[in-house]
Amino acid sequence: MYPPSFDYYAPTSLEEAIRLLDQHQGEAKVLAGGQSLIGMMKLRLAQPGALIDINRVPNLAYVREDGAFLRIGALTRINELHASDVVRARYGALFDASGEIADPTVRNWGTVGGNASHGDPGNDLPACLMALDAQYQVQGPKGSRAIPARQFYQDSFVTALQPNEVLTEVSVPKAGAGSGSAYSKMERKVGDFATAAVAVSLRLGADGAIAKAGIGLTNVGPTAIYAAAAADALAGKSGNAAEVERAAGLAADAARPIGDNRGPVDFKKDMVRVWTRRTVASAIARAKGGH
Ligand SMILES: Cc1cc2nc3c(=O)[nH]c(=O)nc-3n(C[C@H](O)[C@H](O)[C@H](O)COP(=O)(O)OP(=O)(O)OC[C@H]3O[C@@H](n4cnc5c(N)ncnc54)[C@H](O)[C@@H]3O)c2cc1C
Repeated sequence: MYPPSFDYYAPTSLEEAIRLLDQHQGEAKVLAGGQSLIGMMKLRLAQPGALIDINRVPNLAYVREDGAFLRIGALTRINELHASDVVRARYGALFDASGEIADPTVRNWGTVGGNASHGDPGNDLPACLMALDAQYQVQGPKGSRAIPARQFYQDSFVTALQPNEVLTEVSVPKAGAGSGSAYSKMERKVGDFATAAVAVSLRLGADGAIAKAGIGLTNVGPTAIYAAAAADALAGKSGNAAEVERAAGLAADAARPIGDNRGPVDFKKDMVRVWTRRTVASAIARAKGGH
C-alpha cells in the first residue's frame, strides 16, 4: 500500500532539521533509515504530514571512544555498529544485538538513533543501552539535554523525546577493566523480532566479585524493561549458580509479556529466566577476557 502524501524536507544542518520539526508542531517525523517509519506509513499506522530526512545532516555517524564514553552518532547504521572493532572488543552486548537485528538490508539502512528512538518494544538495542546505562543526547529548539536510556521508554512507541527534538548521540560509559556484556535473543527464525531477549552488562572488582550489573529485557512488555531488582541482586556477589538463579528469577518477575503468536506468557517469562542465566555467564566470561 502507498502511504498518504506528505511533504519532504532534506535539511543540511541539525539546526535546520530542528527548526523544521518545530515549525510543524508535532505533524512532522524525522526520517533516518526509514526501516520502521516507512513501513508504518504504508500500513497507515503513522501519517506524518512531513518527513524531515536527516541523512544530509553532517557529523551524525561515528563510533568512537572519547573520554569517559563510547559515543555513537545517531545516524550510525546498525551494520557500522556491528563492524566496529571497539564494539566487538569491549561492548559485547551491542556487538551481539547489532548482528541479530533483522537482515543485512535492514541493518545497512537502519540507524542506531532510529532503533533507539522508535520505542518499539521489539527493538533490540534499547535493552542493551539500558543494561549499559547509556545516555541519549537530544537536541531541540532550546538546546540539548541528556536522557538516561533507563528513563526514556514510557509506553509502546511513546518515549521521552519531544516532537521537535532530534536524538543526536548515544553515549555509553566506557568499558573499563573487568567489564563484560552480552545479549541473547530467542527468535522464531533468523531475522525475526525477539520472542524474548536479555542484555547483561557487569563489572568485576579486583576481588573477582560482581561490583556492578545492569540487565535489560526486549519484547516482554510494552517497552524495553530495565530489570533493576535482578541487576541489584548480582552486585557484591561472586556469581555462583544460586546467586545467578535468584537474579534470573527476579528478571522473569520484571517481565510483563502478553501471550501472542510468539508464545504464551509463562513461556516468555521462563525464557527470560533461562536467557538471563546464560547471558550473565557470557558477560562474566567476557569480563574475564573471554569471548
Ligand atoms: C523486516 C524488518 C525486520 C526488523 N527486525 C528487527 C529486529 O529483529 N530487531 C530490531 O531491533 N529491529 C528490527 N527492525 C527495525 C529496524 O531495526 C529499524 O531500522 C529501526 O527500528 C529504526 O531505524 P531507522 O533508522 O530505520 O528509523 P526510521 O524508520 O527512519 O525511524 C523510526 C522512528 O524513529 C524516529 N527517529 C529516527 N531517527 C531519529 C532521530 N535521530 N531522532 C529522533 N527521532 C528519530 C522516526 O521519526 C520514527 O518515528 C526490523 C525492520 C524490518 C523492516
